[in-house]
Parts: sequence; structure tokens; C-alpha cells
Amino acid sequence: MLLQYKSSILNFFLLTDNDDTNNKIPNWRISALRIILSTVMLVCLAVVCHTFGPAVQLSLIHIIILSVSFFSIVITLLIASYKYYKFCAHFFLITTVLASLAINLFITDLELAKVGSMYMFACPTIALILLGYRSAICYALLNLAPFFMIIYNVDLSILFSPPEQLPNTNWYIMGVIFAFYNICIPLAVARTSVAAKRLNQSIQDSNTHLTAKNELYRTFFSHYYKPKVILSEKGEIIDLNEQAKILFTIELNTQTTNEHLSTLLPKLTSNDHKDQLIQIKDSYHRVTKQNVVNSTYTVYEFSDCTQEHKIKKNLISIEEKYKRLRYTDSQTNLPNKDWFERQCESLAIKKSAGFYIIVIQSANNDYVNLKFGESDFRTLTIAAYKRITDNIKEILLCSDAGLGKLVFLINTPNVEELEKLLSRIKKTLDAEYTLFNSTFTQSYLFGIAQFSQENNSSAKVIANAQEALKSADNINVFSYYNQESSQLFLKKHEISMLLDEAIQSAALDVYYQPKVTKDGLCIGLEALARWNSPVLGVVPPDTFIPVAEEYRLICPLTNLIIQKVCAQIQKWNQSGFDVVPIAINLSPFDFNQKDFVSNLIRYLADFNVKPDQIELEITETALEENNTNALKIIQSLQSWGFIISIDDFGTGYSNIARLADYPINKLKLDRSLTNMITTSKRHYNLVKAVHAMCRSLNIKCVSEGIEKREYIASLADMGSEEFQGYYFARPMTASDFYLYTQQNGLFFNGEKVENLPS
Ligand code: C2E
Ligand code: MG
Ligand code: MG
Repeated sequence: MLLQYKSSILNFFLLTDNDDTNNKIPNWRISALRIILSTVMLVCLAVVCHTFGPAVQLSLIHIIILSVSFFSIVITLLIASYKYYKFCAHFFLITTVLASLAINLFITDLELAKVGSMYMFACPTIALILLGYRSAICYALLNLAPFFMIIYNVDLSILFSPPEQLPNTNWYIMGVIFAFYNICIPLAVARTSVAAKRLNQSIQDSNTHLTAKNELYRTFFSHYYKPKVILSEKGEIIDLNEQAKILFTIELNTQTTNEHLSTLLPKLTSNDHKDQLIQIKDSYHRVTKQNVVNSTYTVYEFSDCTQEHKIKKNLISIEEKYKRLRYTDSQTNLPNKDWFERQCESLAIKKSAGFYIIVIQSANNDYVNLKFGESDFRTLTIAAYKRITDNIKEILLCSDAGLGKLVFLINTPNVEELEKLLSRIKKTLDAEYTLFNSTFTQSYLFGIAQFSQENNSSAKVIANAQEALKSADNINVFSYYNQESSQLFLKKHEISMLLDEAIQSAALDVYYQPKVTKDGLCIGLEALARWNSPVLGVVPPDTFIPVAEEYRLICPLTNLIIQKVCAQIQKWNQSGFDVVPIAINLSPFDFNQKDFVSNLIRYLADFNVKPDQIELEITETALEENNTNALKIIQSLQSWGFIISIDDFGTGYSNIARLADYPINKLKLDRSLTNMITTSKRHYNLVKAVHAMCRSLNIKCVSEGIEKREYIASLADMGSEEFQGYYFARPMTASDFYLYTQQNGLFFNGEKVENLPS
């Protein structure tokens, strides 16, 4: 309850000095006016109450009217003091002045009349509090009149017939003056001084706040470690901190320049909301634009990122170098297959039809490689690349595909156009080359694969084209990829992966097939690789050996077989069982191994095996014309004491006469020849001639694939000293072979020797 009264008193007298934005008059002025009016009202009320009885008795109606109307006026002013403040203040002051005049006019007692003027003299002070100094001056000037009246004892009461006065008039006048000067004015002044104090406090608070703000300004702007510039809406520089002045080489004591930032930094774009990288003299800066809240100003902050920029630049150049290396063939310096694939992918050609990838290679690639050596071979690849890229504008992309191959991309509307274009490319490629002081021609072969819904990855299409190229030859120059060859490719790929694993884990077995005399006496064995894959089952050598050769697994395979055979010889040796030599099949690719001979010797040494216990079977294709490398290796092997056999003779196209050039010990006639001697006279004669030739060259003849007894006598007659075939024995495991010999001796003959024709 008390609190309620307190707050309503506080509200009524506006003692809180809250900001009132709706009213232009400060609270403390209204408050002072209300304090004055309230005091006056109370005094008036007291006067009215006190004078009422005597005034009625003495019939002094004007006194009642005056005091009541003064009281009513004060109440009205009090009510209207907030809304019509100025009017109320002036009205009160003017009423006071008029009351003073009235006292002067109607009080007959001169002394008392003079005292009444004191109300008037208080008016400038009250006006000063309530309305300001101008009003105070006006009221002070107004006071000159009563002042002179008092000085010159002007008594206006004589002009009027003064009404009768109340007996205690001096009490009232003095009492009111007392209340006026002791309560009313001090309270008003007190209220004013409270307001002044509060104002002072708030100014102090503002100052503290400003000081703090100034400190912030210094910390975050003027003394900030990064250059900062404040710009107006028009882009003029309003302010810039010390660092900014240093950055733009502006004198430190220069005040704002009003210059446009764009004149200092023409490259800086004002509308960009992202950070910008700007070069200023030798340094690089990241410019961040910040908008100032509730202001049209913008602040630009400059962060030195020169080091960062340098590092980035270095990284970019390293990356470019890396890219160049990654996408360039190290041998030819032409773009490589990775580059080609990437470009194809970025062309987004997968969905559109008519895009072909073509892989080309010279038909006599290996020959050229051997004839000219690797570096000149590269020169030829580069020349071919230049020819097609310079002359065939339809070629969209072209790169090195390794090993003398080139890959390129074309787009043609139909097959006829494609064929025409390919013929033109072939003509360009096959034209005479004049390189390394000699002139020669080439015949390029083409593997062609098309992008389709299923084959939409460039890597896949390149692989398809490469696969197709394998089927190309001088008759079928343009080889198109088809699904079947694709499946074959996948199968081969799978085989190669599993085979690789099998070789690495030595999971290949070795079977041994006896080589016998015409009587069936075992005079040696042939080691044959066997692979029982846990995934694919038993895979025949005719399947996995070509895959091993194609996927470059043949050398580790050969090495594995050599080691297994050597280990077997050692084992049998140790148990006093001696069946040698054991033949090991070699692939022409084995001769490409740098240290083939020395490795072979090392394996033999590891197992204490002598070279003459090993026979090496080399296929006819290894003896190609001008293969000086093969010749050298064979010579070296012979000098070490190995027995050299030419395997599968009769399946290749080699010139029989060339055998004379090689230091070979045995010639193994292929099954396709030996099996024909009884049915074809021509074959019979051919085999006979080969035997004769071998005799003259001191080469032993071995007949392979003997399935029937009927061939043995004829071949033995012709000069065959060794036989191998199912008729005598099938390939078997080492333990089976050992068991057999333990039970039957070394004879492998389905029939008794004596039953054989002589
Ligand atoms: P190859 O060196 O001519 O071996 C003889 C092949 O003829 C063997 O087939 C053998 O089982 C088979 N054969 C033997 N007698 C007869 C017969 O009377 N009738 C018939 N139809 N076939 C007979 P295999 O073991 O399937 O080997 C096939 C070829 O795989 C071998 O022919 C050889 O060229 C190659 N090969 C086998 N093992 C290896 C190896 O370890 N390294 C290399 N590089 N090639 C191997
Ligand atoms: Mg063989
Ligand atoms: Mg053979």
C-alpha cells in the first residue's frame, strides 16, 4: 500500500527523471512546476479555509472569490501542467504578478503592499527554473515597475476605493511569503539540483563510456596491427589507421584524405562481398569488407598474405610440374594414357554416339624396336604422333599408349565415314619415314572400340581398343572390338590375377613326363607345370601359359618351375635315385630377363644341381631372324653345359636352315608332324628330311606326342633317338613316377620291347 502511494507520488511529481521522448520539456521542470503549484495550492486551501468564516462575517465576498478562484486556477494548472507546460508556467507566473499587483492596489497598508510585491520579485527565479533564462529576463524587466513603485512609494490604493481588509491580512500575506520562500522555492530548487546532479552523473557515465569506446577504437582501429580504412558510402576515405597509412605511404600525421580508395587501389572492386586478393607494391593482401552496423560506412581490413601467397604459388607450380610429369610419357614426352583418359572423361562424351577410341601400333613393332634400339624407336613413335596430329584434324585427342602404341579419339557420324577416315589415317602413318639415316615404311594396325551405354568409361574403351588391336594383323588391319573378345579379355584378366597369386605362393605343381628310347627306357623327364586353382579348378597349361606370357608372369613362373625341378633333382639325388636330364620349358620372354643365365646358374648352385642335369626346351619362335639376344643366351647356356632343345618343331614358320646358326642339341618334332607320317606321304618325307638334316648338324631328334605304337618304328628308322608320348607314359607327379620306377624299373612301355618292329 505504502509502496503504491510512494510510486504514485513519484509518478505525479515526476521525480525519477526518466527519459520521456514524447515531451520536449524535461521531467525536472514539470516536476518543479508541480511542486510549486502543489505548495501554492495547499497554502491557498489553508487561506481559503481560514479566511472563509471572517470574510463571510465581514461580507468581504471579493476575498472569498479571489482566494477560491486562485485556488481553482492552481488546481487547473496542476492538472494541465504536463500537457500545456509552458502555458501553465507562464500563467502561474503572470497570475503571481497580477496577485502582487492586486496586493499593491488593494492593500491600504503601504508596508504590507510593498511586502506583497515580493511575490513578484520571486518570479524571475521561478521563471529561470521553469522556463529558462529568457523568460527570467522578461520577468525581471517586468519587476522594474513594482520596484520603482516601492522606491517612490507609489500608492495606487488612493485611485480606487480600497475594499475593506481582513483583520489578519498581514498574517496571510507574510504566511504565504513564508511558505513561498521557505518551502515552495527551496523544493523547486532542490528538485532542479537533483536533476542537475543526475545529469552530471549521466554525463560522467557517458564520458566513461566514451573513454571506453575510445579505447576500443584505439585498440580495434587506430592502433590495430592490420591496416584498416573507413570509407563513406561514396567510397571516400573517412579515416585510416596507422598501418594503413604505412601501407599506402601516407604521412602518419595526415588526417583523413577524402581520397577515393579506388584511386589508391584501382583493382579493388567495391561490390564484391567476398574477400579479395590485391597486390600492393611487392606484397599481397587479403581485403575484407565489413559493413558498419547502423551506418553507411564500410571498413576495409587488409591482411598481409604475401607468404601464404608465395607458398600457394609454389604449390601450384609444384602441382603443375607433377601434373606435367604425371600426364606425360617419360620416354617420348608425349601426353600419356592417364592424360588421355582424363581428357576423355572431361569431354563428357559418354552419352553421345559416334565416339571411337583407336589404338595403333606398327605391325613390325618388335622388329623396329630391335633394329633401331629403344631410343630411336621412341623417335619413330613421336614422328607417327606428329604426323597424325598435324594432318588429321578429325583426331580430337591423341596420346602415347606405351610400347610404341598411340591412342586417339575420333567422332564420326557413321561407319562409312569412320572407315574412310581410318584409311586416310593409315595412309598418313604408313608413308615413308626417313629417320636415323635410313628410309623405311611401316604398316600400322588399328584396334577400334566405340563408346556405348555399357562401355562408357574411357579406361574401359581404351582397354577394349587394345584388346581389339591384338587381333589385328596385316590382313585384318582394322580390328573392331567385340563383346566376345571382351569376355575373353575379362577371363584372361581373372586368370592372370589368380595365376599371379598362385606363382607368388608357389602353388603351381610340376608333373613329369618320361622321355624314352624306342624300347621305352626312361632316359630323362620333361617337367610340365600344373595349376589346380581353388577358384577355377584345373587350368591346362595351354590356357595359363599364354596368359602368363601376355601378363608378364612367365618369368616368375619359369623361375618357380626351375627351383622346384632343382629341388626335386636334389631330393632324388640324395636318395640315390638319378633320372636326368629333366627338361624345363622356357618361354621366349625368359630371354628378355637381364640376368637370366646368371639367375639360372644361381638356382642350380642353390640345389647343387649341375647344368648337364637340366635340359632347356625353347620354342621355335625364340629363334626368329636377327634375334641376336636369343642367340647370345643360347650360346652362353650351351657353354655352361645345358642341353638345349627346340620344342614343338614344325608348328612355327621358322626356316629349318636357320637351326644351323644355333648351338642346339635336340630337336623335338611336334605331334602334328609325327602323327601324320603314317597317313601322309608328304609328311613322312618331310619328317625324314628333317631327321637327315639333324643328323648332318649333329642334332638329336626327339619325337613328341607318340600315342600309338605304329609311329615308333618308322621314326626310330628315320633317326629318332628319343620318344615322348602317352603311349609310353602320361605326365605324372614326382611321387607317382618314383613309385612306378620302384615297382617296374625305368621301362615305360605298354607292350614288350620285343614286340616292337625293328
Ligand atoms: P610341350 O612342351 O610340347 O609339352 C608336351 C605337351 O604335350 C604336354 O602338354 C604333354 O602333356 C602333352 N603330351 C605328351 N604326350 C602326348 C601325347 O601322346 N598326346 C597328346 N595329345 N599330348 C601329349 P601340357 O602339359 O598340357 O603342356 C602343354 C604345353 O604347355 C607344353 O608343351 C609347353 O609348351 C607348355 N608348358 C607346360 N609347362 C610349362 C612350363 O613350365 N613352362 C613353359 N614355358 N611352358 C610350359
Ligand atoms: Mg616342352
Ligand atoms: Mg612340345
